[in-house]
Amino acid sequence: MKNITILGATGSIGQNTLSIIADNPYDFSVYALSAHTQIDRLFTQCLQFSPKYAVVANKDLAAQLTTKLKAQNSTTTVLYGQKALIDIACDDAVDMVMAAIVGIAGLTPTYEAIKKGKKILLANKESLVTAGHLFMAAVEKYNALLLPVDSEHNAIFQCLSSFNKKADKGAVEKIILTASGGPFRQKTLAELQHVTPDEACAHPNWSMGRKISVDSSTMMNKALEVIEAYWLFGMPIENIEVLIHPQSIVHSMVKYCDGSFIAQMGTPDMKTPIGYAMYYPKRHFIDVPNLDFTQKALTFEQVDLSRFGALKIVFTLLKNKDYAGNIVFNAANEVLVEAFLSGQIKYLEIIDYIEKALSKANFNAPGDIDEVIAIDQQTRLLVNDFFA
Ligand code: NAD
Ligand code: MG
Repeated sequence: MKNITILGATGSIGQNTLSIIADNPYDFSVYALSAHTQIDRLFTQCLQFSPKYAVVANKDLAAQLTTKLKAQNSTTTVLYGQKALIDIACDDAVDMVMAAIVGIAGLTPTYEAIKKGKKILLANKESLVTAGHLFMAAVEKYNALLLPVDSEHNAIFQCLSSFNKKADKGAVEKIILTASGGPFRQKTLAELQHVTPDEACAHPNWSMGRKISVDSSTMMNKALEVIEAYWLFGMPIENIEVLIHPQSIVHSMVKYCDGSFIAQMGTPDMKTPIGYAMYYPKRHFIDVPNLDFTQKALTFEQVDLSRFGALKIVFTLLKNKDYAGNIVFNAANEVLVEAFLSGQIKYLEIIDYIEKALSKANFNAPGDIDEVIAIDQQTRLLVNDFFA
């Protein structure tokens, strides 16, 4: 029986994690759950999983949730705020932490749990995107186990993990991240001019929130994943490639020096990588639809960097080891996707303004998480001025 804390329990990754726990009640005990403001969903989760603690954003929400839980004779204690998030991630009783808060808010509790040497199931993208050098140094120093949940990185981890990882390093020639190419894979630049938010959110294979769907259409999501892969697997950027694979069956692959390619495949369902990380190093039954190879042809295409500027930018940033630039890249994108979704800017302006932000920003590589957060905030102010 493993004690697990789920940071961001009410989100898509958090709910999938809980559904695996519901299917395997003798393997996991839920120590704590967190949500930002969705207290109704958190309330239902608390009744079902009886965590010791539930954490919400502020005092008011904590009081509301406490009242509702007391009326049901629940024994869960409700806490609030950043310190509480750190406490539920770091407590000695916790065996593993699912880091599934979205955005920069996920950094500090995850980082602190690493410093406690925990097993971390990492979904939060921003941790490695904005602070990869700090996170990886802490993983090494505190001997934490960092397991990627993002499907591509989880796939690569699976392709590597049948070997001793250190020995693997010299044998791995390339890491190949697959990308569906999103809904606009075949559109020309001229056609992309007039894309609407609803069109950008209609992802062909994965059902996701609006922000990440737009990121998938611009291939920003893949660009962020290139940064994550760079840190997780310690590969020079020249050895990381992106390949379009519209069916999203091959979740990523590794090329070895003897000409072998090892790929991880499956139906696109986040429960597979989540379950793999939860049970690592063992494999366990996870209830996902079967993959029928006779029903779908698998195809692959090169990425056109002239239409997917985010990827072009990211390879330059990493080549230059511009780690502050990674923070600017991510923060600018968040502001700009929001502006696009609310009709303030056009689709192609997302990338144009990211380039403008990178050319105007001038930060040194951050030395700690507070500096990461400061660069993130200053970038948001800078970018808001572009179109406000
Ligand atoms: P989501 O938006 O569905 O859920 C986010 C969770 O974070 C919620 O529980 C929410 O209450 C909490 N949260 C939001 N803002 C917060 C704040 N300021 N402070 C504390 N908690 C806050 O997101 P998701 O799809 O579950 O994704 C979570 C993370 O995993 C993201 O970083 C995302 O990029 C990454 N990821 C998601 C998927 C996926 O398939 N959903 C795949 C790969 C990676
Ligand atoms: Mg992914």
